[in-house]
Amino acid sequence: MTVPVWQDRSCQRHITCDVAIVGAGVVGAYLALTLSRQGLDVVVLEARFPAAGATGRNAGMALTGLGEYYHTVIERHGRATARSAWQRTLANGRRTRALHDELDLAYEACGSLLLAIDDAEAAELRSAADAMAVDGLPAVYHAADPLGRGFAAALEQPQDIGIDPVRFTEAMLAASGAMLLENSEVYALVAGDGGVAVRSRLATVRAGHALLATNAYSPLLHPSFRGRVLPTRAQMLLTAASPRILETLAYANYGYEYFWQLPDGRVLMGGWRKGYRDQEVGYTDETTEEIQRGLETFLRERFPEVSQCVELRWSGVMGFSPDGMPLVGVLPDLPCVGYAVGFTGHGLGLGIEAGDDLLATVLRGEPEGIFAASRIESPAD
Ligand SMILES: Cc1cc2nc3c(=O)[nH]c(=O)nc-3n(C[C@H](O)[C@H](O)[C@H](O)COP(=O)(O)OP(=O)(O)OC[C@H]3O[C@@H](n4cnc5c(N)ncnc54)[C@H](O)[C@@H]3O)c2cc1C
Repeated sequence: MTVPVWQDRSCQRHITCDVAIVGAGVVGAYLALTLSRQGLDVVVLEARFPAAGATGRNAGMALTGLGEYYHTVIERHGRATARSAWQRTLANGRRTRALHDELDLAYEACGSLLLAIDDAEAAELRSAADAMAVDGLPAVYHAADPLGRGFAAALEQPQDIGIDPVRFTEAMLAASGAMLLENSEVYALVAGDGGVAVRSRLATVRAGHALLATNAYSPLLHPSFRGRVLPTRAQMLLTAASPRILETLAYANYGYEYFWQLPDGRVLMGGWRKGYRDQEVGYTDETTEEIQRGLETFLRERFPEVSQCVELRWSGVMGFSPDGMPLVGVLPDLPCVGYAVGFTGHGLGLGIEAGDDLLATVLRGEPEGIFAASRIESPAD
């Protein structure tokens, strides 16, 4: 992230506050709301506008779990970590529902189905269901496709919800009463006066602490994120209103495909990244013909009655971590600056809980917990 001399107006406006938050996505908005409610003076600096990043471009699914199935996460991280991660997503879901009620926002309490595309994935779902049952995690395994659409099996998670992530983010920001500096890209974090000076295009904000909620964009702001937060593109489309085909959120092919029929009948579908993982990287906001064709073909083959009129196509940038779990920590050179990033396509399922870990770590000096970024080596360490 760079700012040329002609655009740098950071010296023209000086603001002092308790905590500066960089990024006004769902995570930054949640942090602003929580800190303001604790009586702290908060300023949010946003490069563009609220929910301009992945938050405003996602599928709106607040799901239980991570990007891999439960038994796979046990193999990778150990049972205690996997169980704890799942419990955190369940807590995140409960708190997302409570915040929606409190802020008078609607959500779809429709549950989700993880759908197996073949027998091999069905066996994986069965293993996931068995391991979840052992750990008392809520899920119902269906050995036959509950949708009757040629899937090989399904895992139902009744507690999952669909939300409008933009309204949610805007409502949290508004309720926080925090000062919001839009169009104010942060380009430097400088230690000083027992805190940090956050220099952005339009102002310098001096704060005791700064919190980075910059997800995919984090490597552009600080070198310690390079190789630890990997910008990964996802594409979506939205069809015209169609006959009702689906009552739940749906997540298929190990989560590579996801779809949801909105209350107005339009169908949101995203994914088709599996065969294009090398291409779907970086920050370019564009859709590609191959992936969009793949999404349309998937819908046509499984749900032929869905309208083939596509109203919108878009892309967004997710911040993947190397092991699929978020990264919570403090900058190696600036311990008063913390971050919660690397949500790996699950920020609606974990942003609130990871945000709480960030607040505990940076403001109260508590251990970072299961999402501690120190588990992954940084080039700046
Ligand atoms: C197509 C797509 C579908 C997805 N579907 C789902 C889903 O269904 N469920 C789910 O849980 N997750 C999903 N995700 C992922 C989810 O959107 C993210 O995990 C989540 O939005 C991350 O929120 P965030 O606030 O951390 O980051 P972001 O929403 O990306 O916000 C970061 C903000 O920081 C700002 N910023 C960055 N750098 C700077 C800087 N230097 N100065 C000032 N501001 C800065 C950006 O402009 C941006 O507004 C999807 C993502 C995509 C792209």
